[in-house]
Formats: sequence, C-alpha cells, structure tokens
Amino acid sequence: MKMSKLFVQTLRDYPSDAEVISHKLLVRAGYIRKLSNGIYNYLPLMWRVLKKVENIVREEMDASGAQELLMPFVQPEELWKESGRWDVYGKELMRLKDRHDRGMCLGPTHEEVITFIAREGIKSYKQLPVNLYQIQSKFRDEVRPRYGLLRGREFIMKDAYSFDVNQEGLEKSYKIMADAYTRIFDRCGLETKAVQSDSGAIGGAVSHEYMVLIDDNENNAGENDVFFCKNKSCGYAANANHAISVLEPVETDGSKYFNEFQKVDTPSTTTIDELAAFLNIPQTIILKSMIYIADNKVVMALIRADKTFEETKVMNAVKAHDIRSAAPAELEAIFGASKGFVGPKDIEKVKIPEEYDGETIQIVADLTAKEMKNFVIGANETDKHFTGVNWSDLKEPVFADIRLVEKGEKCPECGEPLYVTKGIEVGNIFQLGTKYSKAMNAVFLDENGKTQPFIMGCYGIGISRTAAAAVERHHDEHGIKWPVSIAPYHVDVVPVNVQNELQSKVANEIYEKLLQNKVEVVIDDRDERAGVKFKDADLIGFPFRITVGKTIDEGLVEFKTRETGEVITLSPDEAVEKVLSILANNIA
Ligand code: ATP
Ligand code: MG
Repeated sequence: MKMSKLFVQTLRDYPSDAEVISHKLLVRAGYIRKLSNGIYNYLPLMWRVLKKVENIVREEMDASGAQELLMPFVQPEELWKESGRWDVYGKELMRLKDRHDRGMCLGPTHEEVITFIAREGIKSYKQLPVNLYQIQSKFRDEVRPRYGLLRGREFIMKDAYSFDVNQEGLEKSYKIMADAYTRIFDRCGLETKAVQSDSGAIGGAVSHEYMVLIDDNENNAGENDVFFCKNKSCGYAANANHAISVLEPVETDGSKYFNEFQKVDTPSTTTIDELAAFLNIPQTIILKSMIYIADNKVVMALIRADKTFEETKVMNAVKAHDIRSAAPAELEAIFGASKGFVGPKDIEKVKIPEEYDGETIQIVADLTAKEMKNFVIGANETDKHFTGVNWSDLKEPVFADIRLVEKGEKCPECGEPLYVTKGIEVGNIFQLGTKYSKAMNAVFLDENGKTQPFIMGCYGIGISRTAAAAVERHHDEHGIKWPVSIAPYHVDVVPVNVQNELQSKVANEIYEKLLQNKVEVVIDDRDERAGVKFKDADLIGFPFRITVGKTIDEGLVEFKTRETGEVITLSPDEAVEKVLSILANNIA
C-alpha cells in the first residue's frame, strides 16, 4: 500500500471529547470516526486490526471444536418474552416496531436466538455437546457510552454458546473455552487475568471475566476494580462485584457504651464520622442504613458502619436487575427523616409512596452486621438515633454478603493481603445452566429417552474492545505500538527524500520484496518532510520502520523497532531478511 493512497487522515491534536488514551489515539491516528454517540466508523486501518483480532478468535474457536454461524441482528420480541428478559433487560435493549407494529429489538446478545436454534435442531443427546459461535455487531443503548471503542453502543462481539447433556459436560466445555480465551488474548499481545465475577442479568452461577489490568495512575480506562492475591500458589482474583475477604476481629458489642434501648439526640450528625465522634464510640457498633431503589422497589441495606456497600451485590441479594441509591428528597418522602437518620426500626410500618412498587420495604443486611450487639441505628427522625439496639428489636433481615472489599483485607483463600487494580473486561465466560433452556422449553432426549433441558454456557469477547485495550496497553507519547499480531500493517518503508533517485529506488525495491513475501507493508511515497513521515509512522504504530536516507550512499538503511525504539543499520537485503524472520516467529 502506498501511503499517498492509504485512506487515513491523521490529526495534529487529540479530539476534545476523548478521555482515555485509546480513544484519543485511535481518532488522532485516523482509525475511527465518530458517527453518533457511541457509534463509530471503523476506517480501513481499524478494520484491518479488527479483522486480525477476529481471525485470531476464529482460529482458536475453530481449533477448540466450536462452529461458526451467523444469527440475525434484529430479533423478534416474542423470543425475549419467552425467556422473560423483555421485561427485565432495561433500556440497554434497543426496541423497535416493524411496519406491522410487531415488537423487535437490536441484538445486545443472542441467548434467546441460539436457544431457539438448539430447540429446533437438537433432538437427541447424540448431537451433544455442541458449541456455536458468531462474530457480529451488537447494539446496547448504554447509559454512558464513553471511552471510544471501549464502551460503545454499537460494538463487535464474538459470542459463543455451548450445549451439554449435564453439568459435568458443561464444566468440560467451559474449561475448553477458558483455555481458548487465554490463548486468544496471548496472541493479541494482551496479558489477561481470569477473575471471578458476578453473573448479572444473564444469570447462572459460575462465571469469569478476562481482565486486562491497567495501572491505576496510567489513566482511567479500567472501569472495573479487580481484587487479587499476589501469593503465587493461591492466585485468587475477583471483580469487586464478586470479591470477598476475611476481616480482622473488631469490637461489635456496644454494651460498654449503652445498657438499654433508647432514643437519643444526635443533632446534625449526618455522616458516620460525625455520629461516631458525637457519641464517642467506634464506628463498628454503628449499623449504617442505605436506601436503594431496586426495580422500582424500596430496599434498605444495612452494614457495619466502617464498611461500604457494593451496589451490584445489593442488587443481586434482592434479585433485582436495576438499582440506584435513593435521593435525599426520596428519603424525606418515604421516612420523614433526612439523610443520616434513616434506620430499620419498625420498618414494616413505613408506608411506601404510590410511585414505588411493592408493599413493604425489603431489608438486606451484610454479614458484618450479624454479630453486632447493642448498636446504634437511625431513628427515622431527623437529629435522632436509637442506641443499645439488638436484632431482637428489629424485623429479621435477609443476611447476605453486600460488602465492598477493601485493599489489605485478607484473601478468602489463603489469608494473605489483597491488592486492587483497575481492569478492562475484554471477555466473559458463564455457566448458564438451564436458565434459558427451561424458560424457552428447549429440550433433548437423554440416553433413557427422557426429555431434559439443555445445560448451557455462554462465552463473549469484545472484539472492538480488545483492539482498544491493546492500545491502552501498548502506546507511548508518540502514538500506538501495535503488537505485531494485530497491527494493521507490519512495516512502513520510508524514503527520506522521494526526490532522491537512489533513495526512492531502494525504498521501492525493499517494498516490492516485502510484498512478494506477503508482508503487509506501506511505503511512504509522499513528498513530505522526513519528520512528518516519522511522526505519522509512530502515531499509526507500525511495528517496524525501514528508513532509506543519506546512508544509502554507503549501502545502509535504518531499521527501527517501534516497541523498543531500537534503531540499527543494515543493508537493504538484511532489513528485508530481518522482517521476514521476525514475522515467521511472530505470526506462527
Ligand atoms: P460491561 O460490564 O463492560 O458493560 P458486560 O459484562 O455487560 O460488559 P458481556 O455481556 O459480558 O458484557 O459481553 C461480552 C463482552 O463484550 C464483554 O466482555 C466486553 O468485552 C464486550 N462489551 C460489552 N459491552 C460493550 C460495549 N458497550 N462496548 C464494547 N464492548 C463491549
Ligand atoms: Mg461481562
């Protein structure tokens, strides 16, 4: 490809709306152009990268025995009603009507369609196990599309679905996928950590996310907090929405401070710090209450006050699909008390305003709250708290782990301290079980001629997100440093001065030789200053640059490796040989 013909427009500056480096660089280096919020054009360079990621994914999926198919992007409402997700998926599901007023949606994921396919096509255990996958654009009307390709509304995903006769089979299929995922991300030049995660709206029990770990101070692209144990023989790692930890014992009985249940004045103590200071007690004998609105129902969450709630855990504990914390005005309206003074006493008597669903307030208490005795709670009256409270004074809550783990707490598996870092989720694997097959009555005949629902797994990889994550991991202040395996082109051949006959001739010879050897190569034939060409080469991120300049008079060219910045001088033939040998080792 000649640079003069390559469809790429690099920009002098970063786009003003970009926050993270992959978004900045992909726009500035001419890979993507925004069409609408969270919707991007993949320009020729980007498309080459995406096809390479796709091909790696395809090769590894095929090698693992999975079969590729392609399902429709537009799906009928009925299937989603069958699975029960039409009502619970929320606004991320882009719904539309066809000319006959039939409900449709743009596929955010394809469990319903694949279950339909299995229901129609798989009748006997003899046809199992099977794993079907596709690579396709997905649409999710994300609340906050951001970070360029990392969180788009339209994005490319590989989604695979396995069908097995029993749990044992599922576990095997799951392991095969886990191994394929490790190879896929390795080949894309991305180190990933498989972390335990929450299974969210998709449901199911066991799931792992593949996280590209991002240094906290580097940028803010990692949207997930990942807790992990550095103990090599342990290797525990979990997303914050799933992580657990062991706590040091602390004082949780307030009998030293309070000997009876009592309402006390606690003026203006709206925070836990203020309340603990005012009562002169440790935070560990205060029970913190927080009001959430989950699927439009009022929920009270309780936790020992020195700890913090993890919202996804709260949402799962009350089996909701959507959650937000209540606004101060809502607290006033429901409890007649301001923020900081709400509590669980006589909660069953609180009348729920009409705009919410549900008859009573659900209470969920963290496991840290269980041991507490003679503690302090809000009195549902501004500037008042109850002290000396025991669980026997309250309506029995549901106890569940709803606590956010903190750095330094002990690993649940080996007791060593836990560390935290940011991560980008590039892939996700789930053991779904029978969630969809039962709901949609997708069954097969087992060995004994009995009908059984399929035991399913599902496995996603964000193709476009993986490419962007590679930029997050591989760049410097001059631009992108693509891993060779997913670079749009491998080599940029740069004649320093195209007016110079010898330089131009040698550069073209190198270019032709590389082309003959099937190397993906660009020649920068533009009549531009060398500085401009070098800048673009670094920005676009070609792994190798061969520069033909003045030293060609002595028969030498420069060979630059983008990753390390190393520059060596070689003869033109040696430079070609070097590229070929590197690629032979890299692309294998
Ligand atoms: P997230 O938690 O980041 O919203 P998710 O868990 O909802 O993602 P999955 O349903 O697990 O996403 O989808 C499989 C993969 O698709 C993810 O691991 C991720 O790599 C990719 N993906 C999901 N949402 C987006 C998005 N909005 N933009 C780009 N890639 C995405
Ligand atoms: Mg996920």
